[in-house]
Parts: sequence; structure tokens; C-alpha cells
Amino acid sequence: MKKNIILLSLIMLPWLAQAQYNRCGIKLPSKNVLEKLKHQHSNRMHSFRSVDEAANYISRIVDEVPDWEQNFVVQERNGINNAYAHISGGRRMITYDNIFVESLDFQAGTKWASISVLAHEVGHHYYDHVLDRRGSTPPKEIEADYFSGYVLAKMGASLSQAKAAMAKLASPYGSSTHPPRNQRLAAIEKGWRDAKPRKKSTMISGNYYSQQQDIDYVNIQQRSTNAVVATWVFNGGQKSSANLQYKRNAYNGAKVYAANYMDNTRRVELYFFKDGRIRERDIDLKTRKSHWYNFSKH
Ligand SMILES: [Zn+2]
Repeated sequence: MKKNIILLSLIMLPWLAQAQYNRCGIKLPSKNVLEKLKHQHSNRMHSFRSVDEAANYISRIVDEVPDWEQNFVVQERNGINNAYAHISGGRRMITYDNIFVESLDFQAGTKWASISVLAHEVGHHYYDHVLDRRGSTPPKEIEADYFSGYVLAKMGASLSQAKAAMAKLASPYGSSTHPPRNQRLAAIEKGWRDAKPRKKSTMISGNYYSQQQDIDYVNIQQRSTNAVVATWVFNGGQKSSANLQYKRNAYNGAKVYAANYMDNTRRVELYFFKDGRIRERDIDLKTRKSHWYNFSKH
């Protein structure tokens, strides 16, 4: 009981200059912020958030993890100025206050803020963090942040949108219950990157055969996302290599070219199309005439 009174008096001291944080280390909205939100509502300048909106977000978040069944109940509780995952009466729950959820977006300037914090709370259930009833620890918070970054990427958020809530509302300092902000942002970023399919850097590497009479094949090695090395292997066995840069998009593909080729008499341009086709344009620099060749990877 004594513990509760101490806890209560801590909650009842919002007048302290220090920012207050919830159990997940998210800054609680100040009185000032809550007043501004109330004002917005009374002006009806902004569309009023549906009471179901947070619950809808949560079900969309769960949908992004197809191999997992939602194992918690969602409960709205106005006036608690918070959102958190917990166990109550033997049931896993996420309890939230719509005004608190709305204040996240208001303070971070993006709707992704509330989605990110709700995803973080869902993450606590996904990783079974609430089962030990011991509350937050830095490793738990990092895992939930990772989950949030992962889910937000799946939902279409940019990296900065996925980070917006934590960047604005997480404590910069670590404590026994939560990690410092920079670690949390790194966890979100890791989750976000893991959710994105990796670019296959070797996708276009290989030997390409063309209709050109004097060329056996062209060997292409992708060096980075915007550079390849191409080696033309001629019938006689001679080779000519060039570093090619992606200059611009062409027909939904990347265009690369070798400025000088075959003793500066010709220029070649390679076009890599999204559908996998490769074509070469061989330009005679004297006559300015060009030929198109189809390339295929055998
Ligand atoms: Zn948390």
C-alpha cells in the first residue's frame, strides 16, 4: 500500500520540470499538449479520431505478422494518459487511452507515431515480455522497438516515419527499465531494414550473349547499386573492360554506358530493364549510327 501511495504521489507531480515517461520510456504528454489537443477537438478543425482507430491499427499491426495469432485483448480506457501491454486477470491485454495515442501523433507530427508505439506494445506480447510480470527492462524494450520497426516497414512507413515517435518522445538517457534513445532508434532501424527485401547485388552479374557478330559474350559484374564492370569478349579472344555507371532510368530500367570502346570508334550503352531484358545499343561514333542488340543470359 505504501508503495502505491509513493507511486501515486509521483504520478501526481506533473508540475515538476522533468518530463514524465511511461513504463516503455515514452514521454507522457504535458498538460499543455493535452490542452492543445482539447482545443483542436472543440474547434473541429481536424477530423476527430475515431475511438476505434487505435484498435484498428492494432489489428493491422497483427496482420503484418502472419505466422502469429493475436494473443491479447485490446481495451480502451480514457483518462489513463498511457498505452501499455500487461496481464490482468490472467489475460494478456493492451490498454490505451485514445487521447494519449493522439498526443503521440500531435507531438511527433505524423500518424506513424501512434502506430509505432502501438506496434511496440504489440511487440511485448509477441515476445512474451509480460509473462514474468516484472515490467520493463532494456532488452525487452529493444526487442519491442525492433518489432515496431519491422512492422512499420511492412505497413509502408519510411525509416524516418518508423523512428518519428522514439526520436521525439523517448528519453535520451537509459535507466534500469529502458535503454537510451540512440539504442532504441538503432533497434527500430534494424527491424525496418530486416523487413525490407534485400537488394540482390549479384542480380545482373553474369555472362550475356548477343546477336553481335564480333562478340562472344559480355561479362557483367555488379559492383554496387549504381556501378557495374562490363568486359566484352571478342571472337578472337581479345577483351575490353569498362566501368559503367548507371546514368539514368531508361524504360523502367537502368542505363549504363561505356563512353569509349574499340579505340574510340564506338560507344556502347547497356540497358537493364525491370523485366530482366538486357539490350545493347552500339553506336558508331563517326557515322552516329546505332544498332540495337538483344542480350540474353544463358
Ligand atoms: Zn515497451
